[in-house]
Amino acid sequence: MRTLRRIFLGTLLVVSMPWAHAQISSKGGVGLLMPTITSQRWVVDGLAMVRAMDKLGYRPDLKYANDDVATQIAQVEEMLKSSDMKVLVIGAIDGSKLAPVLQKAAEKKIKVIAYDRLIRDTPNVDYYATFDNFQVGVLQGTYILENLGLDKGKGPFTIELFGGSSDDNNAFFFYDGAMSVLKPYIDKGKLVVGSGQMGMDKVATQRWSGSVARARLSQILDKYYGKQRLDALLSPYDGISIELLTAMKKAGYGQGGQALPVVTGQDAEMPTVRSIIRGEQTSTIFKDNRELAQVVTAMVDALLSGKKPLVNDEKTYNNGQKVVPSFLLKPVVVDVKNWRATLVASGYYKADQFR
Ligand code: BGC
Repeated sequence: MRTLRRIFLGTLLVVSMPWAHAQISSKGGVGLLMPTITSQRWVVDGLAMVRAMDKLGYRPDLKYANDDVATQIAQVEEMLKSSDMKVLVIGAIDGSKLAPVLQKAAEKKIKVIAYDRLIRDTPNVDYYATFDNFQVGVLQGTYILENLGLDKGKGPFTIELFGGSSDDNNAFFFYDGAMSVLKPYIDKGKLVVGSGQMGMDKVATQRWSGSVARARLSQILDKYYGKQRLDALLSPYDGISIELLTAMKKAGYGQGGQALPVVTGQDAEMPTVRSIIRGEQTSTIFKDNRELAQVVTAMVDALLSGKKPLVNDEKTYNNGQKVVPSFLLKPVVVDVKNWRATLVASGYYKADQFR
């Protein structure tokens, strides 16, 4: 992880040079507030947006907040002091904690775009760009049932459910999407949740922490899977999936004729793609964040040119105060059969990164 962080930071420093030039003659500042550099996806998001904003002549100001809510709020406060700041693009850490600072942004007529994660409980969010989050869950659930053969009448099988962070609106969409597919099989007794732990109040993983999820799974394995085998794990995010696999291996799976369970994920992060190639993690969801950065850049550009940004959903994302007009991109399932065609052919990764 430390090495990864060094590479990411190195890349950030390298790309920081052009921003300084852009500042002199920019069309305005765009604050890019991302949650953390500990997950590869957010680093790719940040860099893709810096490039895109830079190209259009805006002054991108990219900040990562170490998954700490107070830090992210302080970063917004700091950006509001900048006289050329025009738009804030925010990948929230806790989607419900930004209302007061966004009130200040509104008073300064600074526009706000929620990036990937919905910002809740405030009228002061103008647009939302994300992927179809419910569909992410549907794809994860469908992968499990097809991989186990439940759709062909096989079963019963055992499963344990892992959710994302309960301060992230997306986590509920992922879980609900997956359960829309899995619940009928659970109700019929074809899928059995050995621990009985169901519902986001029981299965959420604070701040998407892999180690928190691993500890929960180890306890579950000790308590409920002494004799019976665990066949599937619904995991919402690759960083969690990798840790769940560690717990499974520690419990003896993946050796001595005891196959690993089906394990889902999300983000197509590098360690996961390697794990898929090794035959460990079973699938992930690829969300091309280069496309997300393009959508957001177009939104920013439209907003600042007095045009209406393009949206394709004006009903799904009610943030508690209003329905936020959204643009939803399509998520794609990746497994050992299509990782090359999906991730390498699209230029997201290079083939030699996986040799
Ligand atoms: C994102 C996922 C990501 C998760 C953890 C969610 O809000 O939509 O892509 O896996 O956060 O970072």
